[in-house]
Amino acid sequence: MNIMNQKGEHALHAVIVPTPAQGHVNALMNLAQLLAIRGVFVTFVNTEWIHERVVEASKKGKSLVSKDNLELEQQGWRIRFLSIPDGLPPNHGRTSNGAELMVSLQKLGPALEDLLSSAQGKSPSFPPITFIVTDAFMSCTEQVATNMSVPRVIFWPLCAAASVSQCYANFLVSEGFIPVNVSEAKNPEKLIICLPGNIPPLKPTDLLSFYRAQDPSDILFKAFLYESQKQSKGDYILVNTFEELEGKDAVTALSLNGSPALAIGPLFLSNFLEGRDSCSSLWEEEECCLTWLDMQQPGSVIYVSFGSIAVKSEQQLEQVALGLEGSGQPFLWVLRLDIAEGQAAILPEGFEERTKKRALFVRWAPQAKVLAHASVGLFLTHSGWNSTLESMSMGVPVVGFPYFGDQFLNCRFAKEVWKIGLDFEDVDLDDQKVVMKEEVEGVLRRMMSTPEGKKMRDNVLRLKESAAKAVLPGGSSFLNLNTFVKDMTMSKG
Ligand code: UDP
Repeated sequence: MNIMNQKGEHALHAVIVPTPAQGHVNALMNLAQLLAIRGVFVTFVNTEWIHERVVEASKKGKSLVSKDNLELEQQGWRIRFLSIPDGLPPNHGRTSNGAELMVSLQKLGPALEDLLSSAQGKSPSFPPITFIVTDAFMSCTEQVATNMSVPRVIFWPLCAAASVSQCYANFLVSEGFIPVNVSEAKNPEKLIICLPGNIPPLKPTDLLSFYRAQDPSDILFKAFLYESQKQSKGDYILVNTFEELEGKDAVTALSLNGSPALAIGPLFLSNFLEGRDSCSSLWEEEECCLTWLDMQQPGSVIYVSFGSIAVKSEQQLEQVALGLEGSGQPFLWVLRLDIAEGQAAILPEGFEERTKKRALFVRWAPQAKVLAHASVGLFLTHSGWNSTLESMSMGVPVVGFPYFGDQFLNCRFAKEVWKIGLDFEDVDLDDQKVVMKEEVEGVLRRMMSTPEGKKMRDNVLRLKESAAKAVLPGGSSFLNLNTFVKDMTMSKG
């Protein structure tokens, strides 16, 4: 589909603004590529902190982004990378203090508008901006879109059910479900059935974990409620899910003002199937693990990763390590340098030596390629939405070990709604919730070598098929993305 003339006149030009976090940047980079191959010019705006890390991580790699190549022209499509300061000092612990980051991001509107205005004439080959695709959690784009008189397209990086729960957060306050009372929430008397979209009944603990604060003046609590007010005011809504997984109603429920709302995911999958890499990692990907996987038995390896932000206590890491050892399976474990609450992970004494014949540790993996590898049979995950989508798209069942945000909902849905995995029971130990090694080992064994595990594998293989169908030509997400591009062309006039 080519919607521009030879000179690039009348072409669409999208500005894409992700939340500065790995999963959000990945999802929107995938959208950038899918728009670009449909003839849309893209200006991708990262914060400087993210931009510098993507450039650094890809120095040895093949990233789309580099300091000297801020415009990308490949196969006739154009993506330009710009960056703005996030308002925090360079040495600020952005991921460990998300509250300050979020408050700072809410004030970025004027800087973003200045950046875009000054960029308008700089690349003569780029036509005027025609719409802004904003991550649902970047409310600062609202005023920018209004001032520039362009449509504001809200992109939800969560599953539709979690998005609905966030979009209606202020309503849930009035219904008494927020703030979440954690002590009653695990076995609640009342499930949340008042949300629209035919989503499965929610437990209070399925709501974004930021609403668990006992003190509603908590910064994150307030910041997420503020975002919620802005999330219902888009001119168009896009969601990184697929209709066959969550249904159309859940997506439509995200439009409170009658704007179109479409499911266009899993976004990474069509790029992956067609051999395009999103190349937006914040860490250098250790490709050597793919060679190691080549040497393992089909379906035997447990892949372990807790995403880009989750941290674990030293005690918890030790229990996971011993549980993995006890499972008897080979495993590939992503141990980010900051996984152990800011410090390098300390594993139990002698652990690496004892498991060296069947274990590999990396700092960061090419995750989609790992999950697509025939040797991988199970994903022990923090249940981030991108990781969950990637796992189901590759037909790999999951064991969920959520940390924060929407991960609790993703984990429960994987277990109880989609029936593609299990989770852990924790116990109270020294005033902390800990999952013990026996629980880790037991759940991993159930998944790897029982008929119950086999059933979940069969279920996830069915989802793999429908995810691929959705993103390939003629599929629901493929057609929805085409509809979106057509609608943006019409709205441009
Ligand atoms: N990821 C990766 N290599 C790793 C671990 C994670 O490339 O070793 C990617 C993963 O494929 C996903 C993203 O990082 O696209 C993590 O996003 P998710 O929503 O799962 O979790 P978050 O990091 O936002 O908590």
